Amino acid sequence: MKSPLHILKEYWKHDSFRPLQEEIINSVLEGKDTLALLPTGGGKSICFQVPGLCLEGLSLVISPLIALMKDQVEQLKAKGILAEMIASSMHADEISIILNKALNGQLSFLYISPERLGTESFQNILHELNPKLIAVDEAHCISQWGYDFRPSYLEIAEIRNTLPNIPIIALTATATAEVIEDICEKLHFKNENRFRKSFLRSNLAYVVRHTDDKHGQMLRILQKIPGTSVIYVRNRKRCKDIADFLVKNGISASYYHAGLDGSTRELRQKQWIENKIRAIVCTNAFGMGIDKPDVRTVIHLDVPESPEAYFQEAGRAGRDEKPAWAVILSDPADEDEATERFMHQWPGFDTVKAVYNWLGNYLQLPVGSGQDQSYPFDISDFVKRYKLHPIECINSLKFIESEGLLAFQENTFSPSRLIVKASRDEIYDFELRKPAFEPIIKAILRSYGGAFNDFVVIREQELAARLNISKQEVSSALLKLHQLELIHYYPATDKPRLYFTEGRHHPNRIPLSLKAWEKRLNKAKTRFEAMANYLSESKICRSTKLVNYFGEKGIPPCGICDICIANKHLESNDKEEKRRIFELRILLANHALSLDSIVSNTKGNPESTIKTLRYLVDQGSVVESKNGDFQWKMS
Ligand code: ADP
Ligand code: MG
Repeated sequence: MKSPLHILKEYWKHDSFRPLQEEIINSVLEGKDTLALLPTGGGKSICFQVPGLCLEGLSLVISPLIALMKDQVEQLKAKGILAEMIASSMHADEISIILNKALNGQLSFLYISPERLGTESFQNILHELNPKLIAVDEAHCISQWGYDFRPSYLEIAEIRNTLPNIPIIALTATATAEVIEDICEKLHFKNENRFRKSFLRSNLAYVVRHTDDKHGQMLRILQKIPGTSVIYVRNRKRCKDIADFLVKNGISASYYHAGLDGSTRELRQKQWIENKIRAIVCTNAFGMGIDKPDVRTVIHLDVPESPEAYFQEAGRAGRDEKPAWAVILSDPADEDEATERFMHQWPGFDTVKAVYNWLGNYLQLPVGSGQDQSYPFDISDFVKRYKLHPIECINSLKFIESEGLLAFQENTFSPSRLIVKASRDEIYDFELRKPAFEPIIKAILRSYGGAFNDFVVIREQELAARLNISKQEVSSALLKLHQLELIHYYPATDKPRLYFTEGRHHPNRIPLSLKAWEKRLNKAKTRFEAMANYLSESKICRSTKLVNYFGEKGIPPCGICDICIANKHLESNDKEEKRRIFELRILLANHALSLDSIVSNTKGNPESTIKTLRYLVDQGSVVESKNGDFQWKMS
């Protein structure tokens, strides 16, 4: 077996592991069920991908979002690692090709959406797939207490019954204490091992500015702090307005939201990553799976919907550990608006049930049918037809989803793809009979050599240019070949889909529980209030406040947020002490160090450092272990 470090260097070209990665990987390799709690950007993927490769067999990876899976599979493939994904929106023949690869030992990683786990066809071959490791990404989705519960995640426990001896690694970035317990219980963890990295981001200054002039304030921030920026707003239309405003004021900017078509989104994201655009103005559709280390500012022009969401979005700043800022701009009208919006987002229970029923009507689904089927679903058309508020609709869908009746899949761009089903002889035969098709068939075979064995991604535009015909003509020729069963051709799609986990229920017998709905509403209220609280806070350090929310206690003030700066503590005679605390906090947040190495790794005079350290130990922020090492205390 190759060593983890060897694998890391060979495939990722990184020199060393980040804090906790190696411990997590070793725990997995010892066959223990492992829970890894690392903040977003902390490097969770490597924690299962490296041991997966060490174990030299198939690793199953469960992930809630198609976009996340797609992203990781592409990244693995780019490293020459054999990886594929199965999403519920895929066609049966695409799925069977991938499963065959997995069965033939041609895959190291199989990403699979949780709804697929429960299907009979998958359960039947689970034994034969013989995975060596099961990774559950975004593991908080398994908990009803989490903010993003997905009932299909509960299916994962079923794998446990089928394959009791395969270690599970669960990974998440957001989990309160009750969610952690829930994850370990629901996944039936044995000899469990938990690893938690502090959520403290010591280079990130959290700031809230109450202002009447958000645009002006935003502009001044961008003028003062150079470097890449993400600007979050709530509504799609404002994305463009604000990007225009920035451009008018000399800042290169563009915008991004889920209403743009896939290729535009991909292009803008790429331009931003490559520093061709400095600021991207976006809705929360932007950012997932994006990993740009040198983001200097994340600015929110609207109140984020929860501390969880805020922590994730703000956390995109300063991944390179250099100073960065996370700013919320808020004006007096915001709070009222936010309350109003919150009320609007949560319809009455009757409406929720009506939404379920309307879905069935809208998709023309007879009662009892639809199980395990997925349908393209245009949510804006749907809300128009039934006069719903879009967010009200989304919250209803999410609830219906959490009750296990369906799964709503965000729009993910999937490119056109095809596979040649006929043999070479049959193709030759066909060309003789239908010479009109000869050029296009030749063009396919010439451009996409692998198309006999596997689905290949194609661009109709390229074929059109090559053949000197229109894109339309290419598409219709391909559809014709599809109908004749010479090829299988799936044109690009960019539509969200609805996946029915159960057949449509009769309107009078929809199994949705009022109690569960109320519970969900209360949880949402708690999160909403926590966010409002964060905004109105005037005494407690923002950083402390945020990590407290995630269950870390004993964290002293960061010294760099707006509140710390404003606080009296920061008067001049205290400054040096603050600096020392800050320095020690960075040093000891993720490592336990001896007194000697603390002294040699800090700047000030040793005596003062030791005095400050003593103070921190007395005060409970730092703990001293039996062997005399010191470490910052986590909850
Ligand atoms: P998470 O899932 O925790 O949000 P990712 O797994 O997506 O984070 O990793 C974030 C980024 O950190 C990736 O670009 C990854 O390549 C990088 N990374 C992870 N581990 C290391 C390491 N040991 N050295 C350098 N870069 C790393
Ligand atoms: Mg991740």
